[in-house]
Amino acid sequence: MVAEIICVGTELLLGQILNTNSQYLAQKLAELGIDLYFQTTVGDNMERLKMAIDIATKRSDILIFTGGLGPTSDDITKEAVADYFGLALVLDEDVLRRIEKFFERRQVKMPEINKKQAYVPKGAKVLHNKNGTAPGLIIEKDGKIAILLPGPPFEMQPMFEEGVLPYLEKFSKQKIYSRVLKFVGIGESSIEEALKDLILSQTDPTMALYAKPFEVELRITTKKESEECAKSLLQSMENRIRERLGEYIYGVDRQLLEEVVIGLLAEKKLKVSVAESCTGGLICNKLTNVPGASEVFDRGFIVYSNEAKMKLLGVPEQVLKEHGAVSSQTARYMAQGALSNSLADIALSVTGIAGPGGGSETKPVGLVYIGIATKDYSESFEFRFSGDRLRIKEMTSKAALNILRKKIIDY
Ligand code: ATP
Repeated sequence: MVAEIICVGTELLLGQILNTNSQYLAQKLAELGIDLYFQTTVGDNMERLKMAIDIATKRSDILIFTGGLGPTSDDITKEAVADYFGLALVLDEDVLRRIEKFFERRQVKMPEINKKQAYVPKGAKVLHNKNGTAPGLIIEKDGKIAILLPGPPFEMQPMFEEGVLPYLEKFSKQKIYSRVLKFVGIGESSIEEALKDLILSQTDPTMALYAKPFEVELRITTKKESEECAKSLLQSMENRIRERLGEYIYGVDRQLLEEVVIGLLAEKKLKVSVAESCTGGLICNKLTNVPGASEVFDRGFIVYSNEAKMKLLGVPEQVLKEHGAVSSQTARYMAQGALSNSLADIALSVTGIAGPGGGSETKPVGLVYIGIATKDYSESFEFRFSGDRLRIKEMTSKAALNILRKKIIDY
Protein backbone atom coordinates (compact mmCIF):
# COMPACT_ATOMS: atom_id res chain seq x y z
CA MET A 1 0.00 0.00 0.00
CA VAL A 2 1.31 3.42 -0.99
CA ALA A 3 -0.03 6.55 0.68
CA GLU A 4 -0.13 10.15 -0.50
CA ILE A 5 -0.73 13.24 1.61
CA ILE A 6 -2.83 16.01 0.07
CA CYS A 7 -2.92 19.24 2.06
CA VAL A 8 -5.64 21.62 0.97
CA GLY A 9 -5.45 25.36 1.60
CA THR A 10 -4.53 28.46 -0.35
CA GLU A 11 -2.83 29.87 2.76
CA LEU A 12 -0.33 26.99 2.52
CA LEU A 13 0.51 27.91 -1.07
CA LEU A 14 0.95 31.56 -0.11
CA GLY A 15 3.36 30.59 2.66
CA GLN A 16 1.11 32.16 5.30
CA ILE A 17 1.17 29.01 7.41
CA LEU A 18 3.74 26.27 7.73
CA ASN A 19 2.61 22.84 6.62
CA THR A 20 3.11 21.01 9.89
CA ASN A 21 0.30 18.54 9.08
CA SER A 22 2.42 17.08 6.32
CA GLN A 23 5.35 16.58 8.64
CA TYR A 24 3.17 15.00 11.31
CA LEU A 25 1.44 12.63 8.91
CA ALA A 26 4.69 11.70 7.14
CA GLN A 27 6.25 10.77 10.48
CA LYS A 28 3.23 8.68 11.44
CA LEU A 29 3.20 6.85 8.12
CA ALA A 30 6.92 6.14 8.43
CA GLU A 31 6.36 4.73 11.91
CA LEU A 32 3.60 2.56 10.52
CA GLY A 33 5.85 1.33 7.72
CA ILE A 34 3.46 2.59 5.04
CA ASP A 35 5.27 3.88 1.98
CA LEU A 36 4.79 7.54 1.13
CA TYR A 37 6.07 8.59 -2.28
CA PHE A 38 4.30 11.90 -2.81
CA GLN A 39 2.99 14.88 -0.84
CA THR A 40 0.79 17.38 -2.62
CA THR A 41 -0.31 20.86 -1.58
CA VAL A 42 -3.21 22.40 -3.43
CA GLY A 43 -5.29 25.56 -2.97
CA ASP A 44 -9.01 25.84 -2.25
CA ASN A 45 -9.95 25.40 -5.89
CA MET A 46 -12.34 22.67 -7.06
CA GLU A 47 -10.78 22.08 -10.46
CA ARG A 48 -7.19 21.88 -9.21
CA LEU A 49 -8.16 19.79 -6.18
CA LYS A 50 -9.88 17.26 -8.46
CA MET A 51 -6.78 17.27 -10.65
CA ALA A 52 -4.68 16.46 -7.58
CA ILE A 53 -7.07 13.63 -6.62
CA ASP A 54 -6.96 12.26 -10.14
CA ILE A 55 -3.16 12.18 -10.18
CA ALA A 56 -2.98 10.74 -6.66
CA THR A 57 -5.40 7.89 -7.35
CA LYS A 58 -3.23 6.82 -10.29
CA ARG A 59 -0.07 6.45 -8.21
CA SER A 60 -1.23 5.83 -4.62
CA ASP A 61 -3.70 3.63 -2.75
CA ILE A 62 -4.37 5.69 0.37
CA LEU A 63 -5.05 9.41 -0.02
CA ILE A 64 -4.85 11.39 3.21
CA PHE A 65 -6.33 14.89 3.01
CA THR A 66 -6.09 17.66 5.57
CA GLY A 67 -7.95 20.98 5.48
CA GLY A 68 -10.97 22.29 3.68
CA LEU A 69 -13.59 20.57 5.86
CA GLY A 70 -14.88 23.79 7.40
CA PRO A 71 -18.35 25.28 6.95
CA THR A 72 -17.48 28.12 4.59
CA SER A 73 -17.82 28.11 0.82
CA ASP A 74 -14.06 27.85 0.25
CA ASP A 75 -13.99 24.55 2.19
CA ILE A 76 -14.43 22.07 -0.62
CA THR A 77 -12.41 18.92 0.15
CA LYS A 78 -15.38 16.71 1.04
CA GLU A 79 -17.38 17.92 -1.97
CA ALA A 80 -14.45 17.31 -4.34
CA VAL A 81 -13.73 13.81 -3.04
CA ALA A 82 -17.43 12.80 -3.02
CA ASP A 83 -17.86 14.10 -6.53
CA TYR A 84 -14.68 12.41 -7.79
CA PHE A 85 -15.77 9.03 -6.41
CA GLY A 86 -19.39 9.56 -7.47
CA LEU A 87 -20.81 9.48 -3.94
CA ALA A 88 -23.86 11.50 -2.86
CA LEU A 89 -23.64 13.65 0.25
CA VAL A 90 -26.27 12.66 2.80
CA LEU A 91 -27.24 14.24 6.09
CA ASP A 92 -25.88 12.28 9.07
CA GLU A 93 -28.22 13.01 12.00
CA ASP A 94 -25.69 11.81 14.56
CA VAL A 95 -23.02 14.17 13.23
CA LEU A 96 -25.54 17.03 13.18
CA ARG A 97 -26.43 16.41 16.83
CA ARG A 98 -22.75 16.41 17.77
CA ILE A 99 -22.17 19.73 15.99
CA GLU A 100 -25.24 21.23 17.67
CA LYS A 101 -23.94 20.02 21.05
CA PHE A 102 -20.53 21.54 20.29
CA PHE A 103 -22.20 24.95 20.03
CA GLU A 104 -24.56 24.32 22.96
CA ARG A 105 -21.61 23.64 25.26
CA ARG A 106 -20.27 27.06 24.33
CA GLN A 107 -23.73 28.58 24.72
CA VAL A 108 -23.65 29.82 21.14
CA LYS A 109 -26.40 29.32 18.55
CA MET A 110 -25.21 27.07 15.74
CA PRO A 111 -24.77 29.15 12.56
CA GLU A 112 -26.87 27.69 9.75
CA ILE A 113 -23.78 27.18 7.54
CA ASN A 114 -22.37 24.61 9.97
CA LYS A 115 -25.17 22.23 8.94
CA LYS A 116 -23.08 21.67 5.80
CA GLN A 117 -20.53 19.79 7.93
CA ALA A 118 -23.14 17.16 8.87
CA TYR A 119 -23.40 15.95 5.26
CA VAL A 120 -21.17 12.94 4.63
CA PRO A 121 -20.46 10.91 1.48
CA LYS A 122 -22.72 7.87 1.38
CA GLY A 123 -21.04 4.85 3.01
CA ALA A 124 -18.21 6.84 4.59
CA LYS A 125 -16.96 6.00 8.06
CA VAL A 126 -17.22 9.05 10.31
CA LEU A 127 -14.42 10.07 12.68
CA HIS A 128 -15.69 12.28 15.48
CA ASN A 129 -13.97 15.56 16.19
CA LYS A 130 -13.41 16.21 19.90
CA ASN A 131 -11.98 19.67 19.37
CA GLY A 132 -13.97 21.12 16.52
CA THR A 133 -17.01 20.75 14.32
CA ALA A 134 -15.68 19.13 11.13
CA PRO A 135 -15.95 15.33 11.28
CA GLY A 136 -13.19 13.28 9.69
CA LEU A 137 -14.10 10.71 7.04
CA ILE A 138 -12.77 7.43 5.74
CA ILE A 139 -14.04 6.49 2.29
CA GLU A 140 -13.30 3.17 0.59
CA LYS A 141 -14.17 3.17 -3.09
CA ASP A 142 -12.89 1.43 -6.23
CA GLY A 143 -9.94 -0.12 -4.37
CA LYS A 144 -8.80 3.28 -3.09
CA ILE A 145 -9.00 4.78 0.37
CA ALA A 146 -9.57 8.48 1.01
CA ILE A 147 -9.08 9.77 4.55
CA LEU A 148 -10.30 13.32 5.15
CA LEU A 149 -9.05 15.18 8.21
CA PRO A 150 -9.58 18.75 9.43
CA GLY A 151 -6.83 21.34 8.95
CA PRO A 152 -6.17 22.64 12.48
CA PRO A 153 -3.46 20.43 13.98
CA PHE A 154 -5.15 20.31 17.41
CA GLU A 155 -8.23 18.78 15.73
CA MET A 156 -6.37 16.63 13.22
CA GLN A 157 -3.81 14.99 15.48
CA PRO A 158 -6.11 13.48 18.14
CA MET A 159 -8.43 12.33 15.37
CA PHE A 160 -5.50 10.64 13.62
CA GLU A 161 -4.31 8.94 16.82
CA GLU A 162 -7.76 7.70 17.82
CA GLY A 163 -9.45 6.95 14.51
CA VAL A 164 -6.92 6.68 11.71
CA LEU A 165 -3.97 4.94 13.33
CA PRO A 166 -5.96 1.84 14.35
CA TYR A 167 -7.51 1.78 10.88
CA LEU A 168 -4.17 2.00 9.05
CA GLU A 169 -2.36 -0.51 11.26
CA LYS A 170 -3.89 -3.39 9.33
CA PHE A 171 -2.11 -2.23 6.16
CA SER A 172 1.36 -2.26 7.67
CA LYS A 173 3.22 -5.45 8.26
CA GLN A 174 6.60 -4.09 9.14
CA LYS A 175 6.79 -1.00 11.27
CA ILE A 176 9.62 1.46 11.47
CA TYR A 177 11.29 1.76 14.85
CA SER A 178 13.97 4.25 15.64
CA ARG A 179 16.11 5.55 18.46
CA VAL A 180 17.70 8.96 18.48
CA LEU A 181 20.96 9.46 20.36
CA LYS A 182 21.62 13.09 21.21
CA PHE A 183 25.22 14.28 21.29
CA VAL A 184 26.62 17.48 22.68
CA GLY A 185 30.19 18.79 22.78
CA ILE A 186 31.31 16.85 19.69
CA GLY A 187 30.93 17.73 16.02
CA GLU A 188 29.20 15.77 13.28
CA SER A 189 32.46 14.86 11.53
CA SER A 190 34.12 13.61 14.72
CA ILE A 191 31.13 11.35 15.36
CA GLU A 192 31.30 10.07 11.81
CA GLU A 193 35.03 9.45 12.18
CA ALA A 194 34.54 7.48 15.40
CA LEU A 195 31.69 5.40 13.94
CA LYS A 196 33.02 5.10 10.38
CA ASP A 197 33.07 1.30 10.29
CA LEU A 198 29.55 1.03 11.73
CA ILE A 199 28.18 3.67 9.36
CA LEU A 200 29.86 2.19 6.27
CA SER A 201 28.65 -1.34 6.94
CA GLN A 202 25.12 -0.31 7.92
CA THR A 203 22.26 -2.25 6.43
CA ASP A 204 19.97 -2.99 9.33
CA PRO A 205 19.67 -0.90 11.42
CA THR A 206 20.54 2.16 9.36
CA MET A 207 22.05 5.30 10.83
CA ALA A 208 21.79 8.96 9.93
CA LEU A 209 23.41 12.05 11.46
CA TYR A 210 21.65 15.42 11.77
CA ALA A 211 23.60 18.49 12.89
CA LYS A 212 21.73 21.05 15.00
CA PRO A 213 23.02 24.18 16.76
CA PHE A 214 25.66 22.87 19.18
CA GLU A 215 24.32 19.36 19.12
CA VAL A 216 24.09 16.40 16.79
CA GLU A 217 21.43 13.73 16.55
CA LEU A 218 22.10 10.20 15.40
CA ARG A 219 18.99 8.32 14.36
CA ILE A 220 19.18 4.52 14.34
CA THR A 221 16.33 2.96 12.38
CA THR A 222 15.05 -0.51 11.64
CA LYS A 223 11.96 -1.94 9.94
CA LYS A 224 10.63 -5.01 11.70
CA GLU A 225 7.47 -7.00 12.19
CA SER A 226 8.02 -7.50 15.90
CA GLU A 227 8.61 -4.67 18.31
CA GLU A 228 10.70 -6.90 20.56
CA CYS A 229 13.04 -7.81 17.74
CA ALA A 230 13.38 -4.15 16.67
CA LYS A 231 14.04 -2.96 20.20
CA SER A 232 16.81 -5.49 20.85
CA LEU A 233 18.50 -4.62 17.54
CA LEU A 234 18.36 -0.89 18.31
CA GLN A 235 19.62 -1.47 21.84
CA SER A 236 22.63 -3.50 20.74
CA MET A 237 23.62 -0.81 18.21
CA GLU A 238 23.11 1.88 20.86
CA ASN A 239 25.40 -0.05 23.22
CA ARG A 240 28.13 -0.28 20.58
CA ILE A 241 27.92 3.47 19.98
CA ARG A 242 27.90 4.26 23.70
CA GLU A 243 31.07 2.18 24.18
CA ARG A 244 32.86 4.62 21.88
CA LEU A 245 31.13 7.94 22.44
CA GLY A 246 29.04 7.51 25.60
CA GLU A 247 30.47 10.60 27.33
CA TYR A 248 29.02 12.85 24.61
CA ILE A 249 25.53 11.37 24.65
CA TYR A 250 23.36 13.49 26.89
CA GLY A 251 19.99 11.96 26.09
CA VAL A 252 17.79 9.94 23.77
CA ASP A 253 14.75 10.46 21.55
CA ARG A 254 12.87 13.62 22.53
CA GLN A 255 14.87 14.45 25.65
CA LEU A 256 16.13 18.02 25.86
CA LEU A 257 19.42 19.08 27.37
CA GLU A 258 17.62 21.22 29.96
CA GLU A 259 15.44 18.26 30.97
CA VAL A 260 18.53 16.16 31.53
CA VAL A 261 20.13 18.96 33.57
CA ILE A 262 17.04 19.40 35.76
CA GLY A 263 16.86 15.62 36.22
CA LEU A 264 20.51 15.43 37.29
CA LEU A 265 20.12 18.35 39.71
CA ALA A 266 17.11 16.65 41.29
CA GLU A 267 18.94 13.34 41.51
CA LYS A 268 21.87 14.95 43.32
CA LYS A 269 19.64 17.31 45.32
CA LEU A 270 21.47 20.40 44.07
CA LYS A 271 20.26 23.91 43.32
CA VAL A 272 21.45 26.12 40.50
CA SER A 273 21.55 29.86 39.83
CA VAL A 274 22.32 31.42 36.48
CA ALA A 275 23.81 34.80 35.55
CA GLU A 276 23.19 35.75 31.94
CA SER A 277 24.46 38.62 29.87
CA CYS A 278 24.33 37.92 26.11
CA THR A 279 21.60 35.24 26.37
CA GLY A 280 19.27 37.66 28.18
CA GLY A 281 17.41 34.98 30.12
CA LEU A 282 17.33 32.21 27.53
CA ILE A 283 19.04 29.68 29.79
CA CYS A 284 16.68 30.48 32.70
CA ASN A 285 13.75 30.20 30.30
CA LYS A 286 14.87 26.78 29.10
CA LEU A 287 15.44 25.50 32.61
CA THR A 288 12.09 26.78 33.86
CA ASN A 289 10.30 25.21 30.89
CA VAL A 290 10.96 21.85 32.54
CA PRO A 291 8.29 20.70 35.02
CA GLY A 292 9.83 20.33 38.47
CA ALA A 293 12.37 23.13 37.91
CA SER A 294 11.21 24.89 41.08
CA GLU A 295 12.83 22.16 43.19
CA VAL A 296 16.29 22.82 41.77
CA PHE A 297 16.36 26.26 40.13
CA ASP A 298 17.07 28.98 42.67
CA ARG A 299 17.25 32.20 40.65
CA GLY A 300 18.51 33.96 37.58
CA PHE A 301 20.31 37.28 37.13
CA ILE A 302 20.02 39.05 33.80
CA VAL A 303 22.99 41.37 33.99
CA TYR A 304 23.25 43.09 30.66
CA SER A 305 25.02 46.28 31.70
CA ASN A 306 28.33 46.62 33.50
CA GLU A 307 26.49 48.35 36.35
CA ALA A 308 24.24 45.31 36.78
CA LYS A 309 27.23 42.97 36.75
CA MET A 310 28.87 45.04 39.49
CA LYS A 311 25.79 45.76 41.55
CA LEU A 312 23.99 42.42 41.46
CA LEU A 313 26.97 40.08 41.23
CA GLY A 314 29.86 42.05 42.68
CA VAL A 315 32.04 41.86 39.56
CA PRO A 316 34.90 44.28 40.41
CA GLU A 317 34.99 47.46 38.34
CA GLN A 318 38.73 46.92 37.87
CA VAL A 319 38.12 43.53 36.21
CA LEU A 320 35.58 45.02 33.80
CA LYS A 321 37.97 47.90 32.97
CA GLU A 322 41.03 45.72 32.54
CA HIS A 323 39.58 42.70 30.80
CA GLY A 324 36.21 43.86 29.52
CA ALA A 325 32.68 42.55 30.09
CA VAL A 326 33.30 39.76 27.61
CA SER A 327 36.25 38.02 29.19
CA SER A 328 37.15 34.87 30.96
CA GLN A 329 37.72 36.82 34.21
CA THR A 330 34.28 38.47 34.10
CA ALA A 331 32.55 35.15 33.39
CA ARG A 332 34.23 33.66 36.45
CA TYR A 333 33.35 36.58 38.70
CA MET A 334 29.78 36.45 37.42
CA ALA A 335 29.48 32.77 38.33
CA GLN A 336 31.03 33.36 41.76
CA GLY A 337 28.70 36.33 42.29
CA ALA A 338 25.64 34.32 41.27
CA LEU A 339 26.67 31.64 43.76
CA SER A 340 27.28 33.93 46.70
CA ASN A 341 24.15 36.01 46.06
CA SER A 342 21.83 33.01 45.97
CA LEU A 343 21.01 29.75 47.69
CA ALA A 344 22.54 27.66 44.92
CA ASP A 345 25.16 24.91 45.11
CA ILE A 346 26.27 25.56 41.51
CA ALA A 347 26.18 28.76 39.50
CA LEU A 348 26.52 29.20 35.77
CA SER A 349 27.31 32.40 33.88
CA VAL A 350 27.53 33.56 30.28
CA THR A 351 28.91 36.70 28.70
CA GLY A 352 29.55 37.18 25.01
CA ILE A 353 29.08 39.17 21.82
CA ALA A 354 25.94 38.03 20.02
CA GLY A 355 26.31 40.60 17.23
CA PRO A 356 25.75 41.78 14.63
CA GLY A 357 27.58 44.85 16.05
CA GLY A 358 29.97 45.16 18.97
CA GLY A 359 32.74 42.91 17.68
CA SER A 360 36.42 43.81 17.24
CA GLU A 361 39.47 42.06 15.86
CA THR A 362 40.50 40.69 19.22
CA LYS A 363 36.93 40.12 20.39
CA PRO A 364 34.86 39.15 17.36
CA VAL A 365 31.11 38.56 17.19
CA GLY A 366 30.44 35.07 18.50
CA LEU A 367 33.09 35.20 21.24
CA VAL A 368 31.51 33.78 24.39
CA TYR A 369 32.77 32.98 27.87
CA ILE A 370 30.93 30.57 30.12
CA GLY A 371 31.70 30.46 33.82
CA ILE A 372 30.83 27.90 36.44
CA ALA A 373 31.29 28.03 40.18
CA THR A 374 30.73 25.88 43.21
CA LYS A 375 31.71 26.59 46.82
CA ASP A 376 35.37 25.70 46.33
CA TYR A 377 35.85 25.89 42.56
CA SER A 378 35.39 28.18 39.63
CA GLU A 379 36.39 28.05 36.00
CA SER A 380 35.55 29.64 32.69
CA PHE A 381 35.57 28.41 29.12
CA GLU A 382 35.97 30.26 25.83
CA PHE A 383 33.83 29.55 22.74
CA ARG A 384 33.80 31.09 19.28
CA PHE A 385 30.44 30.69 17.62
CA SER A 386 29.28 31.88 14.23
CA GLY A 387 25.92 32.79 12.78
CA ASP A 388 23.33 35.43 13.50
CA ARG A 389 22.36 36.82 16.88
CA LEU A 390 19.69 34.22 17.68
CA ARG A 391 21.87 31.31 16.62
CA ILE A 392 24.75 32.56 18.78
CA LYS A 393 22.39 32.90 21.75
CA GLU A 394 21.04 29.38 21.14
CA MET A 395 24.52 27.85 20.81
CA THR A 396 25.67 29.69 23.95
CA SER A 397 22.73 28.39 25.96
CA LYS A 398 23.40 24.80 24.86
CA ALA A 399 27.14 25.04 25.55
CA ALA A 400 26.41 26.48 29.00
CA LEU A 401 23.86 23.79 29.83
CA ASN A 402 26.36 21.16 28.78
CA ILE A 403 29.06 22.59 31.07
CA LEU A 404 26.51 22.56 33.86
CA ARG A 405 25.52 18.97 33.02
CA LYS A 406 29.13 17.78 33.21
CA LYS A 407 29.76 19.61 36.48
CA ILE A 408 26.68 18.05 38.08
CA ILE A 409 27.78 14.58 36.96
CA ASP A 410 31.18 15.13 38.61
CA TYR A 411 29.75 16.82 41.71
P1 ATP B 1 -12.15 24.16 10.17
O1 ATP B 1 -13.23 23.18 10.36
O2 ATP B 1 -11.54 24.62 11.51
O3 ATP B 1 -12.49 25.33 9.28
P2 ATP B 1 -10.70 23.04 7.95
O4 ATP B 1 -10.62 21.57 7.85
O5 ATP B 1 -11.61 23.76 7.02
O6 ATP B 1 -10.96 23.38 9.48
P3 ATP B 1 -8.80 24.87 6.96
O7 ATP B 1 -9.89 25.93 6.96
O8 ATP B 1 -8.26 24.41 5.70
O9 ATP B 1 -9.27 23.61 7.81
O10 ATP B 1 -7.65 25.37 7.90
C1 ATP B 1 -7.94 25.90 9.17
C2 ATP B 1 -6.65 26.21 9.89
O11 ATP B 1 -5.96 25.01 10.18
C3 ATP B 1 -5.64 27.02 9.09
O12 ATP B 1 -5.87 28.39 9.15
C4 ATP B 1 -4.37 26.65 9.78
O13 ATP B 1 -4.19 27.37 10.97
C5 ATP B 1 -4.57 25.20 10.10
N1 ATP B 1 -4.04 24.33 9.04
C6 ATP B 1 -4.66 23.94 7.91
N2 ATP B 1 -3.90 23.15 7.15
C7 ATP B 1 -2.71 23.03 7.82
C8 ATP B 1 -1.49 22.35 7.57
N3 ATP B 1 -1.34 21.61 6.48
N4 ATP B 1 -0.50 22.45 8.48
C9 ATP B 1 -0.68 23.19 9.59
N5 ATP B 1 -1.80 23.86 9.89
C10 ATP B 1 -2.81 23.79 9.03
